[in-house]
Amino acid sequence: MPHELPKAYEPGAIETSWAEYWVQEKLFHVETPAPGDPRPVFTLLLPPPNVTGRLHMGHMLNQTQMDIIVRWHRMRGNVALWLPGTDHAGIATQMMVERQLASEGKKRLELGREKFIERVWEWKRHYGGAILDQMKRLGASVDWGREYFTMDDNLSHAVKEVFVRLYEDGLIYRGKYIVNWCSDCGTAISDLEVKHEDVAGKLYEIRYPVVGGVSGRDEFITVATTRPETMLGDTAVAVNPTDERYTHLHGKHVMLPLMNREIPIIADELAQPEFGTGAVKVTPAHDPNDFEAGLRHNLPQIEVIDEHAKMNANAGPYARLDRFAARARVVEDLSAQGFLLGTRDYTIALGKCDRSGTIVEPRLSTQWFVKIAPLAKRAIEAVEKGYIRFTPENYGQIYLNWMHNIHDWCISRQLWWGHRIPAWYCTNDECKDVVVAREAPAACKCGSTKLEQDTDVLDTWFSSGLLPFTTLGWPEATRDLEVFYPNSLMITGFDILFFWVARMIMLGCWFMMPPHKPGKCLATVAVLGEDALRASVPFREVYIHALVRDADRQKMSKTKGNVLDPIEVIGKYGTDATRFTLAAMAAPGTDIAFSESRTAGYRNFANKIWNAARFMFMNVDRIEPGLRPASVGVGDSSAQSAGIAGFNVRTLEDRWILSRFNRAAKDVNESLHAYRFDEAANRIYDFFWGDFCDWYIELIKPRLNFEEGADTAYAKIACSNLVNLFDASLRLLHPVMPFITEEIWHALYDGKPPLKSISLASYPAAEEEQIDLSAETEIAILQDLIVSVRNLRADLKVEPKVKVPIEVFAHEPGIRKMLEKNLGAVLLDRPANVEKITFAERSLANLPGARSTSRFDVHAIYEKKIDVAAERERLTKELERIEKQLVSAEARLGDEQFLRKAPPHVVEGLRKQVEEATILRNKNLAKLKELG
Ligand SMILES: [Zn+2]
Ligand SMILES: [Zn+2]
Repeated sequence: MPHELPKAYEPGAIETSWAEYWVQEKLFHVETPAPGDPRPVFTLLLPPPNVTGRLHMGHMLNQTQMDIIVRWHRMRGNVALWLPGTDHAGIATQMMVERQLASEGKKRLELGREKFIERVWEWKRHYGGAILDQMKRLGASVDWGREYFTMDDNLSHAVKEVFVRLYEDGLIYRGKYIVNWCSDCGTAISDLEVKHEDVAGKLYEIRYPVVGGVSGRDEFITVATTRPETMLGDTAVAVNPTDERYTHLHGKHVMLPLMNREIPIIADELAQPEFGTGAVKVTPAHDPNDFEAGLRHNLPQIEVIDEHAKMNANAGPYARLDRFAARARVVEDLSAQGFLLGTRDYTIALGKCDRSGTIVEPRLSTQWFVKIAPLAKRAIEAVEKGYIRFTPENYGQIYLNWMHNIHDWCISRQLWWGHRIPAWYCTNDECKDVVVAREAPAACKCGSTKLEQDTDVLDTWFSSGLLPFTTLGWPEATRDLEVFYPNSLMITGFDILFFWVARMIMLGCWFMMPPHKPGKCLATVAVLGEDALRASVPFREVYIHALVRDADRQKMSKTKGNVLDPIEVIGKYGTDATRFTLAAMAAPGTDIAFSESRTAGYRNFANKIWNAARFMFMNVDRIEPGLRPASVGVGDSSAQSAGIAGFNVRTLEDRWILSRFNRAAKDVNESLHAYRFDEAANRIYDFFWGDFCDWYIELIKPRLNFEEGADTAYAKIACSNLVNLFDASLRLLHPVMPFITEEIWHALYDGKPPLKSISLASYPAAEEEQIDLSAETEIAILQDLIVSVRNLRADLKVEPKVKVPIEVFAHEPGIRKMLEKNLGAVLLDRPANVEKITFAERSLANLPGARSTSRFDVHAIYEKKIDVAAERERLTKELERIEKQLVSAEARLGDEQFLRKAPPHVVEGLRKQVEEATILRNKNLAKLKELG
């Protein structure tokens, strides 16, 4: 497109076409660098959204931050790889397809495993890409050529390899264990998938008769439980060995009420004398602690609740009842038979399935586990030694606390959709061997060829925990692994710190440590070396971002109906404005209270830039059509371009804007290094809107405005500076607002840019030599003066067209000289609409209606009676403000602790503030006195 931008900024129109262009042109595809390639490498893995997912605000924040960082690194000359993909999401996807089947009147079990899995793949082909299409709309600069799906053949192969290796190392075992059972999902779920909720419940006290009584009299032991139906599976009552109340009962038995089964009284630490009666019932098949106690005492494990949360045959007369119906019946019967001693209200921390909300039942079942301690040990060491750095820092400690208390990981799930466990069971009753293998074994060692594969699949997090290396070709020793592993960074939310981040660290430090030979992985870090550990981590840094809440700081939830759909917000304000909002509000450690009014504000920001560009093009086309940027941000993309090389400094405002630009570039780069997205965004905003659009463009307008037939050399320089500055500013903004910057950048080059995209141009770095302190000070004074005069005019209600002469008193000769130098239309007269400036020899502070700063006094020569009351009010308000400022600055200067910690320039700044405020206060006081 030639220097032409549509009159109105319409984000919808430009954003979709650029998003498509980026994908079609494969702009973000990364070829693996060859050996000897000097370019630095930056790698980032997209936390894979569920294939069933739809984009929500959390994704949008996550992806905005990743995209900013990746675009920034790419523009700084890095080989920047951002790897996208989706997760097969075992439970979620299976449920989705089951629901689809149900609507056709079909059932999963009727269909059979093979047919069902075919259906899931079919579903995935139709609907699986939705979230990725949404990502494209966000402009996420991922390498679509490397997109993965966790069920792809190569990734599935790697999952199998990991399972077999861990098994061979003795780190995977199969055993009966108490798991969290969700009867709705029909599977075991991990501790992390159980959400605890305090609810009002009941505590039932039940007395068990001691068999044979004591010295001929009836005796009872009283136990308490919140789940009375589990008593049907009791196999003991425990008392503490030190509890003297029960010493005489050691070795005796009680009669289990309702079941009429004799069960032993055992002495075990499970019972704590200070709780209740000090005696507890023991149900090894339905409680994790009882399970452990049962193993210690060799107790039978009697299951009474089945996988559908119904009582089974072992529950005798209660068989086939739902667990809660059974509870009611048990309580009723206990009461009728005189065994129920009492019922109390009691708060229960009820465990519910995170997915279905069903109350989780602790249930005995045979599952596969990872023996986690050896893996955790390395993962702890890697973080403690600083090989992985967390931002914000406190998450490192949270991670370590969790890791130190970690339990073995139950990795089997009773689902069909997922990575099927590579274990086969011999059906020969004499043998019953288990074979774990990479390929289906032809025969068992007993000779039988009748082998059946385990029907379970692996926990989804088992495969996603491997992604940092399996997506790069592991278990082959690929060039990709050499170049891109460890990843540089992981950006994610706190909610999956344990689910995913911790497991990636454990698995990475395990499998990426040499030697990768079976049985050798158990070698300690001491043997393998620190360097090996450092090289094995999945990523060098982890940045944990906040949550996005609604404008009232409420968590978004479907039940509250306050969920914001990012695609809708984008439709209203544009992707750029939405991205900018999320970045500008992302202060570390605080959640984002997303407010659409902020987004509307950033849309205005984009609009301001748009209009500034149109103004520039209008002038360029008039003064020097065909003018283009000096393209300094292009070409040598291996280095950042410092400063603005094509900029021709002629005037004070040129020196000033160049200095401001470099300072902004310096700050923005530093902020991005520290993941301070908020600081970076706000800094760019202040520069682009304030310094550039509001001031610089205003200040140079007179240079662009020349008489017919006049020499245009001066205007041409101004134009060229404007174009080069605009180009550099667009590059500075690009990572946060990729679309509008791409659009204007192409227009800057008349539709024939030197590169396919601004995203391939270089990112501005600060050029220290272009920072000009004196220019900044001088312009600051001029800005003060212009603002003062504008305020004066407003107070005097001067018509906008009327020019007014002013009188100025400068406190220092240097300031007067500077003001004199900048007189004339260029810097002062026009912006302040001043007719003529005269200099006073003494202070004007006491003149009615005069304005003062610590550097000058100014008043307008304009016939109008001053409203004394209004003037007094204004001065009093001003005085209050100054006093407040003084008090706060003095308080800080009086704070020893602050003085010790604060950098010298901050302290110096405060001293200066006090000095200036004191001058101003005295002026104000004098003036008030004058007014009487
Ligand atoms: Zn569930
Ligand atoms: Zn066998």
